[in-house]
Amino acid sequence: MKSLDLTAHPHRRFNPLVQEWVLVSPHRMQRPWQGQVEKVPPETVLQFDPECYLCPGNERAGGIKNPQYSGTFVFDNDFAALRPETPEEEFDEAGLLKAKSESGCCRVVCFSPHHDMTMARMSMAELRAVVDTWVEEFVELGNQPRIASVQIFENRGALMGCSNPHPHGQIWANQSLPNELEKELGSFQEYYRAHASSLLNDYLKLELNQRDRVVYTNEHFVLLVPFWAVWPYELLLTSRRPVASLPDLSDSERGGLADTLKHATVRYDNLFLTSFPYTMGFHQRPTDGESHPEFHLHAHFYPPLLRSATVKKFMVGYEMLAMPQRDITPEAAAEQLRSLPGKHYLETP
Ligand SMILES: [Zn+2]
Ligand SMILES: [Zn+2]
Repeated sequence: MKSLDLTAHPHRRFNPLVQEWVLVSPHRMQRPWQGQVEKVPPETVLQFDPECYLCPGNERAGGIKNPQYSGTFVFDNDFAALRPETPEEEFDEAGLLKAKSESGCCRVVCFSPHHDMTMARMSMAELRAVVDTWVEEFVELGNQPRIASVQIFENRGALMGCSNPHPHGQIWANQSLPNELEKELGSFQEYYRAHASSLLNDYLKLELNQRDRVVYTNEHFVLLVPFWAVWPYELLLTSRRPVASLPDLSDSERGGLADTLKHATVRYDNLFLTSFPYTMGFHQRPTDGESHPEFHLHAHFYPPLLRSATVKKFMVGYEMLAMPQRDITPEAAAEQLRSLPGKHYLETP
């Protein structure tokens, strides 16, 4: 019998973080598409947009005026999905009709006062300020008595349903653990009990040894296409040191994170010469008062683009009904991202 070739034969790969499988069909596309790509101009060229509710000095919903901020700026979302004053109650009918109140809060984090800026084109100092803001918010929200998890994320680009190009992310803080964090926490705990080490730390050792899927590394962080990636150009960004949350990072590690964010977003933009859309976010330990030594800080980048600035991957059919599937192997995607220049395509030489 022939041996399994992961570059040619259909196979399943296991994601140990959420304990689910992904179907890989490399024979359907031996090589990633590399046709002509046109440089796509940025979504906006306005440094200040009088119509933008995130720009400094502009009015938001309810007549609140933004300050003339010059760095990052955080405020409570005017249309929050979670509210702090929700009454505590739950009901359960025969285990089939179950509901539970959920309190929490939603914040918006403006990364920059400049409407036309993106993470890929921000300076290291500006990116570092974003990292520091995330740290402050995690500490402040995580210390609130009814908050068990703090989800930091960014939804970037019109393709992701983000209507405003102003560089910003969100933070949703919950009373209970969201599904993804609960699945990952269970996997981390199970692995830690069996091996007395962090699941991601041991995974990183394998990846740094093999190098096939590593896109970029610095002293403190590793950027790679995970073995079990679902999205064509999915990235996993992990601290080398197994810390459980952003506040655990040292001063130089925070700088290392800013540098890695820059490399991830610049390579993305350079791939199809466009402002690359994605959802990215951090997974950190629950803020339930426990130290969670099993948990390992990381961020996921889930970008929808497949072959060009306009051709995206759809999660439909088999993927909605059965399991996710991909054609380009994670190794081929990593090689493509790794070989791109580290300088942004819009920067003049
Ligand atoms: Zn703006
Ligand atoms: Zn995760």
